[in-house]
Amino acid sequence: MAPRPLDLGRARGGQGVRVDLQDGRSWFVSPPSPSAKIYVCPGCGAEIGRGQVQVAVWEADSLLGGQSALELRRHWHLACWRDFAR
Ligand SMILES: [Zn+2]
Repeated sequence: MAPRPLDLGRARGGQGVRVDLQDGRSWFVSPPSPSAKIYVCPGCGAEIGRGQVQVAVWEADSLLGGQSALELRRHWHLACWRDFAR
């Protein structure tokens, strides 16, 4: 299956660093960047406002495949992700 062309946001999100957590789950994490939109952080349940530093996180070994995992990515406050992933 040929890969679908990615838009800029996805291409940027695709540059994730793999993080293997002690619970056995693995994630890709985008470089931290100021949020361009408002998201709800899965870590604390609060909004990530525009301009707040956030990371996009998606499952590394998803049974749904990499593209689906990327589409299901969640945006976290950088501090909340660090707290979750330590
Ligand atoms: Zn948060």
